[in-house]
Amino acid sequence: MTLQTLKSLADALAQKKTSSRELVTDYLARIDARNPAINAFITVDRDGALAAADAADQAIAAGHAAPLTGLPIAHKDIFCTEGVLTTCGSKMLANFVSPYDAHVVSQLKAAGVVSLGKTNCDEFAMGSTNENSFFGPVKNPWNLDRVPGGSSGGSAAAVAAGMIPACTGTDTGGSIRQPAGLCGVTGIKPTYGVVSRYGMVAYASSLDQGGAFAHTAEDCALLLNHMAGFDNRDSTSLERAKEDYVRDLALPLKGLRIGLPKEYFGEGLAADVRGAIENALAELRKLGATTVDVSLPNTHLAIPAYYVIAPAEASSNLSRFDGVRYGHRAADFSDLAELYARSRAEGFGAEVKRRILVGTYVLSHGYYDAYYIKAQQLRRLIAQDFQQALQHCDVIAGPVAPTAAWKLGQMADDPVQMYLADIYTIAVNLAGLPALSTPAGFSAEALPVGLQLIGNYFGEARLLNVAHQLQQTTDWHLRRPGN
Ligand code: GLN
Repeated sequence: MTLQTLKSLADALAQKKTSSRELVTDYLARIDARNPAINAFITVDRDGALAAADAADQAIAAGHAAPLTGLPIAHKDIFCTEGVLTTCGSKMLANFVSPYDAHVVSQLKAAGVVSLGKTNCDEFAMGSTNENSFFGPVKNPWNLDRVPGGSSGGSAAAVAAGMIPACTGTDTGGSIRQPAGLCGVTGIKPTYGVVSRYGMVAYASSLDQGGAFAHTAEDCALLLNHMAGFDNRDSTSLERAKEDYVRDLALPLKGLRIGLPKEYFGEGLAADVRGAIENALAELRKLGATTVDVSLPNTHLAIPAYYVIAPAEASSNLSRFDGVRYGHRAADFSDLAELYARSRAEGFGAEVKRRILVGTYVLSHGYYDAYYIKAQQLRRLIAQDFQQALQHCDVIAGPVAPTAAWKLGQMADDPVQMYLADIYTIAVNLAGLPALSTPAGFSAEALPVGLQLIGNYFGEARLLNVAHQLQQTTDWHLRRPGN
């Protein structure tokens, strides 16, 4: 199969070589064929997609096409979609049909995309493997015994398996970059505040950021053009001029300084992943970039700080699920307190409960200063590390994850081991910086490896430029899994 990018599909539509209905029908057939084994989709909105495709074809025929008119995508099932099930991978919301669209969803709709459905994810985006979904784990298309990464595992696997050319995702501590890396696709997490969180069900509000998955950096840039931008319904949305994320794709890399944090290449990094990253860096040097050693000395504090702050915010955010207004309600209760307790006990899975407990604990009187305030102080130090390092380089590069995709179930009983696998992605969210993952070769077991590129605030266009240039001279992003 030749790689079908949004760009190539948009060209085919513009040249009338195909119609949106034809594209949508084709992708629906691929979902029918591949999803039973991979479980990347929770909801397939067949009728909605075909109706939207017909409307898109009419717009094209009438000369009213918007930039992405007629192109099929899907949304992580954490974005509210009007009239379509929005489950967040949870039993709690297994029956929830959203009455409104998230900002990202409405913006992309206005740009013309056709949504084919909602992709599987870890419950409320909590996880690194997609094993925490009420709807079952997602399988990695490169090897069905392996995890696809998480929490946006469904989005990454759907793109990797060719069930959709591009997909939205969210990244609180790595949930776009890590599954993109483990599934061999491109994924970008923008600067905190660039993409509105309105209608994106909250996990940890000071860390959550929406972003995109696609085969190429160019496609990510095309999507981001319509996802980013000020929205007064999100109080942390940044009020700044709209950017064109495609504008710098063609810039040559000559003179680019890439910082290599020594903490990202030390103990714990698998030799085959290191080898792949070094090959990718060698390619970037061939393209004119130079590399410099930098240090992010507080890297070891990122996981402890994150796993205090994220659960603290989650415990507060998830208090809204009480069985009263929407979502799961226990059948049996004798008073209001019991309604809350039973609905939440039945509706939430084990990992979500674990985080609510941790979060409630670290916020409680007597522990707040010792844990929560301390974690916030570490967060500031971690952000300062990046600013120091970025004085010596334009972008920072390193691995996305310490190993390639591991076996399903391998860490399921060991949450701490699982949290440690987030070592290279989490600090970026604590600092609010933009970062992406681009395919960078394969592991000893022929599983994809992702190269992470981290930029300074609002450096998305530069990151996309570096990844795009790398994708012009390498073919890692073109290789497709058998499944
Ligand atoms: N693995 C991290 C967590 O479990 C990050 C998840 C995310 O980015 N949503 O919290």
